[in-house]
Amino acid sequence: MAKPPAGIELLILDVDGVLTDGRIMLDADGRELKCFHVLDGAGMKYWQRAGKRLAIISGRSAPAVTHRAAEIGVSLVKLGEKEKLPAYESVLAELKMTDGQTAVMGDDLMDLPLMRRCGFPIAPANAVSEVRQTAALITDARGGEGAVREAIEYILKHTGQWDRIMKRYQ
Ligand SMILES: [Mg+2]
Repeated sequence: MAKPPAGIELLILDVDGVLTDGRIMLDADGRELKCFHVLDGAGMKYWQRAGKRLAIISGRSAPAVTHRAAEIGVSLVKLGEKEKLPAYESVLAELKMTDGQTAVMGDDLMDLPLMRRCGFPIAPANAVSEVRQTAALITDARGGEGAVREAIEYILKHTGQWDRIMKRYQ
């Protein structure tokens, strides 16, 4: 696995298949339910505590994602983005970040243009083969099972920033 380049300051996450296992649950009224992993949520807080930025870009739109993002304090959430590249560009412009400062985690073909542009492309274990081939890091965990936490720990550990997170718990 490639070492993450130093200076990754922004992590952009896909939702379905990355923050979830990709299954879409609908109740009798057609409301969408999603299953998030608590370890991912904590990891996203550690990431922010390390002074780094987070954004979510999803091709779909579900209120459950808005609620989860608010809970974790992710302010940049772009939902219903069928073309993800313009959303990616607007996130970078808003945060004044470069491609080289950005990591993208995705699992399906629509994530590929972003993954090719960014400085550190990441795929969960369940990603489709083209995405896994593009990724510099493939997590052992599958989406929805702590893959985001694993990716965050990987970057923070390989850039010497994990010790500071751990200090709080010693
Ligand atoms: Mg996806």
